[in-house]
Amino acid sequence: MITVITPCYNEQDALELFYEALTGEFEKMNTGYELLLIDDGSTDETLAVMKKLAQKDENVRYISFSRNFGKEAAMYAGFCNAKGDYVAVMDADLQDPPSLLPKMLEMLEGGEYESVAARRVTRKGESPVKTFFARRFYKMMGRVSDAGIKEGARDFRLMKRQMVDSIIAMSEHNRFTKGIFGWVGFRTCWIEYENEKRVAGVTKWSLWGLFRYGIDGIVNFSSAPLSIASWLGSW
Ligand code: UDP
Ligand code: MG
Repeated sequence: MITVITPCYNEQDALELFYEALTGEFEKMNTGYELLLIDDGSTDETLAVMKKLAQKDENVRYISFSRNFGKEAAMYAGFCNAKGDYVAVMDADLQDPPSLLPKMLEMLEGGEYESVAARRVTRKGESPVKTFFARRFYKMMGRVSDAGIKEGARDFRLMKRQMVDSIIAMSEHNRFTKGIFGWVGFRTCWIEYENEKRVAGVTKWSLWGLFRYGIDGIVNFSSAPLSIASWLGSW
């Protein structure tokens, strides 16, 4: 069985479209699955949509947070509650195309890999400022960290249970999952695709939010800041 974890923060307009697209894909794939929706303290009708979907479809479950904790916390709750032998993380806005899932599953079943990760090779449709900073961030991470984060890497991937258990076992408080994926090891196959535009609603990331996320990544997965501090301190 496959569990798809989907963190949702104010996704009332996108969620049903995502559900339809995902369900359509699973019907073709002929595998058991569950969709585990995480409501990250939405203030719109997201939770109501989740309740409706869970009521009409037994493959849908949901968890609802008391307030907005952020996508990292939502993914962690998803990992801890996923029942599948294979687990995927996917955004609710269809920027992570469900049409990639059959290929990802095929790669895992080949036995050579424990995870298949998706990476955007274009950023068409994204704001140029965001693209600029994102590119800088990945370049710098490549230089200062050994977490193995590829340019354009998404949180979108399909993993075997063993890898999920390792992710859960990492007791990081301030989680940076993009780095954790690489840190836990396991053989990963990267597949590439063109950027997809958000199907409905708006992005939940401010530039400041992304900046803080980037800092979390560097502090968590590089010893460079600590080395600089020690070096300055010893003067
Ligand atoms: N999200 C979340 N909590 C947050 C921010 C975002 O659960 O505090 C979810 C959001 O609903 C979406 C995914 O994380 O399913 C990615 O967010 P978004 O599409 O806004 O980010 P972008 O694609 O613009 O980087
Ligand atoms: Mg998005």
